[in-house]
Amino acid sequence: MAKYDYDLFVIGAGSGGVRAARVAAMSGAKVAVAEEYRVGGTCVIRGCVPKKFMVYASEFAAYAKTAEGYGWSPSGAVFDWNKFLTAKDREIARLSGIYVTNLQNAGAELLHGKARLTDAHTVLIEGKDGAEARTVTADKILVATGGRPFKPADIPGVEHAITSEEAFHLPQLPKRILIAGGGYIAVEFAGIFAGLGVDTTLVYRGANILRGFDDDVRAHVAEEMKKRGIKVVLGCQHEKIEKTATGLVNHMTSGHAIETDVVMFATGRKPYVDGLGLETAGVKLNDAGAVAVDRFSKTNVENIWAVGDVTDRINLTPVAIREGAAFAQTEFHNNPTSFDHDMVASAVFSQPPVGSVGLSEGDARRSHGKVDIYLSRFRPMKTTFYGGDDRCLIKLVVAADSEKILGCHVVGPDAPEIIQMAAIALKMGVTKPQWDSTCAVHPTLAEELVTMRDKHVPVGA
Ligand code: NDP
Repeated sequence: MAKYDYDLFVIGAGSGGVRAARVAAMSGAKVAVAEEYRVGGTCVIRGCVPKKFMVYASEFAAYAKTAEGYGWSPSGAVFDWNKFLTAKDREIARLSGIYVTNLQNAGAELLHGKARLTDAHTVLIEGKDGAEARTVTADKILVATGGRPFKPADIPGVEHAITSEEAFHLPQLPKRILIAGGGYIAVEFAGIFAGLGVDTTLVYRGANILRGFDDDVRAHVAEEMKKRGIKVVLGCQHEKIEKTATGLVNHMTSGHAIETDVVMFATGRKPYVDGLGLETAGVKLNDAGAVAVDRFSKTNVENIWAVGDVTDRINLTPVAIREGAAFAQTEFHNNPTSFDHDMVASAVFSQPPVGSVGLSEGDARRSHGKVDIYLSRFRPMKTTFYGGDDRCLIKLVVAADSEKILGCHVVGPDAPEIIQMAAIALKMGVTKPQWDSTCAVHPTLAEELVTMRDKHVPVGA
């Protein structure tokens, strides 16, 4: 008789957990997955996927304007928020259903309810929708519970503010919104709401948005956002948020007060470890409150692993998927695999979007000393036709001695699509001469990447 009910018990049916469960189950292992909310996790239910639909929805107004430059008559089309939400929710339900089917097809069992470790091999699943609580045992346990939005608790009135989670379900589109934060979510939602015609203000505490990205990228995106009518307020924090008869008044540390209808905090996400019983099972967290793991995603407890945002390594869906797959390969397919977190490309679906892989110029100078910069700012062909003012930015950061390309950064239409391909070359260690030997595809925006011959000399250098 088997010693445990399951070979593997996964807590959390998001990107990382589902992939790990499927790959493990394909080995013939007996696998169960517990999910307290909806199958699909942050990415599918309240993250990347619905966000991208919102980005698409918000782009049409700008397309309509561009269309006029190309000879189309004004369409007079109007946007219906509720119609969009219904369509979006229908598609999310479909995708969540596919996740369920995929789990079932792989032979994994799905349990609905919040799971809590009562020791290193035992999980209590609280009943959901009247179902009874259930206790099961497992040989191996994987924690893949993701993260939750964080709002600074010390700001009086912060309870009036929403996070990205509620932004996906606002009962109506506000006339005005103020977004706090300067990271991925703040910048993406600022573009979404502005595109949908909402009077949008972004308030960030630092000197420029998108900390961690290349400084030229940060400055370029901020400028382009302003061109699109977004008010970008920098070096400023919330002092308090006051509810009045006409909206919410945000008192800022600068002494200014900004009135708005909705305040959205996009001030980061924290690993979701609450109520999981990790302490009871002896699982250690790191200083950031994330589950501490080694390169095989193993915790300090011999039979417990963790993948995805709950480990706070690189908080991106494809990374969680790869970490989950690597865990399952190692533990269930006798194929020791660890995911390499180097040269992971990412995209910010701001408007214009950003694609970035490798080092920023600043980081490259710090780690490699002398670097050469190739940089081009230009108006894309589609824009010049109608006299628009949108500009793209393309930048390569190259090690001066080895000529290896250390970083590639693109801001402009299709930047996320472009960077996926550039990432392959950078991951393979491409040099600038090899890169330049690639013939351009014309006429495209991306051809600029392989036609930059002159080193960039910063103004004043
Ligand atoms: P980020 O960590 O990217 O940004 C958080 C922002 O909030 C930063 O600008 C930060 O400022 C600011 N902030 C943090 N604490 C406070 C505070 N107390 N007061 C004021 N401002 C504060 O988090 P996001 O919420 O934007 O996104 C969470 C994660 O989700 C990202 O790290 C990313 O990994 C992932 N994500 C990825 C996307 C993609 O791939 N396209 C899209 C959306 C999310 P400072 O810079 O000064 O620290």
